[in-house]
Amino acid sequence: MALIVQKFGGTSVGTIERIEQVAEKVARFRDDGHDVVVVVSAMSGETNRLIGLAHEIQEEPVPREMDVLVSTGEQVTTALLAMALNKRGRKARSYNGSQVRILTDDAHTKARIREIDDVRLHADLASGHVVVVAGFQGVDEQGNITTLGRGGSDTTAVALAAALKADECQIYTDVDGVYTTDPRVVDGARRLDKITFEEMLEMASMGSKVLQIRAVEFAGKYNVPLRVLHSFQEGPGTLITLEEDDAMEAPTIAGIAFNRDEAKLTILGVPDTPGVAYRILGPIGDANIEVDVIVQNVAEDNTTDFTFTVGRGDLARAEEVLQRTADELGAREVRSDSKIAKISVVGVGMRSHAGVASQMFQALADVNINIQMITTSEIKISVIIEEKFLELAVRALHSSFGLDAEPTEESAA
Ligand code: ASP
Ligand code: MG
Repeated sequence: MALIVQKFGGTSVGTIERIEQVAEKVARFRDDGHDVVVVVSAMSGETNRLIGLAHEIQEEPVPREMDVLVSTGEQVTTALLAMALNKRGRKARSYNGSQVRILTDDAHTKARIREIDDVRLHADLASGHVVVVAGFQGVDEQGNITTLGRGGSDTTAVALAAALKADECQIYTDVDGVYTTDPRVVDGARRLDKITFEEMLEMASMGSKVLQIRAVEFAGKYNVPLRVLHSFQEGPGTLITLEEDDAMEAPTIAGIAFNRDEAKLTILGVPDTPGVAYRILGPIGDANIEVDVIVQNVAEDNTTDFTFTVGRGDLARAEEVLQRTADELGAREVRSDSKIAKISVVGVGMRSHAGVASQMFQALADVNINIQMITTSEIKISVIIEEKFLELAVRALHSSFGLDAEPTEESAA
């Protein structure tokens, strides 16, 4: 018998019919003898609806009042699910965040959990209840209602699992797991049985659609085994855990992540002297613009070119800042390009396997794709390429690293 925390997202509790289905599922786990704590989101669309109502009154409502408002969505679904369990003859009790006492800081609309009081929950579990907790919310020291940021119910579930020392935290959603890459780009994308916390974080651009990234960080920190599963289809889902000791066993590459969120800036002909990188990137940082990939070329005639990427949304601002720097430094020119894409191969297996980079570059060369920039970390190699080659590149890498699923009879036919 295990203690399981199960989280159901907005689409899984989006209608009464679905709430009844969730109740069926939860009841089955109860009947198997498990202790179950359920965390629910608001019905799909409800949080947006509430935010819309607020904005009909005020463009920027006081964050404290926003939290009072948007936290109501989750309170509705906890009660409805508890009723649906009661109807099935199972004992259940619903709680909002402040009743449990999910203590957070006072950063309204983006609060962080500090502590969870587990006394009441343990008592309910001991008396055979299913405990249904409202996701996304807590309470500060002063008793004000707080919320954890959009998608925050995942974090509630993981934090509860950590506090209760649950055996597993199951995130039920509308996909059946984490995939090797986006199945819309690669037909042969496969569901992973397992992925490590670290890999999941690096796969952020894919994974964030499945799971709030902050929840993954939290789970990694407290070593809470996380499982992503489909709400209404049977299947094992994807287990997210710590890296196993035997890294030799790990497949070299877990998946291919990509995004079109970045743009590239180049400053040409800057003097090759100490402090130049600082003089270029300092003002960018001061403008609160995040820089991702950086490349500086070797100097010729005592000048060099310097290229870096920023979020696309920051491009115009970054260009302005960089143009000013260029004038100050007497640089030749500033160029920008927003038609780029970033592709990463991700895998903890890289640590024990050499040659991943050359395999990646070869796979791209074979399909004639030019690499503009390269950056690496211990478990990831990323390249910047022209955006129009993104899908071709992802497919080439997916097959080069042996990630393609065996064709099923259906798809082969
Ligand atoms: N209902 C909140 C949102 O839509 C929290 C969540 O769903 O996790 O962001
Ligand atoms: Mg959600």
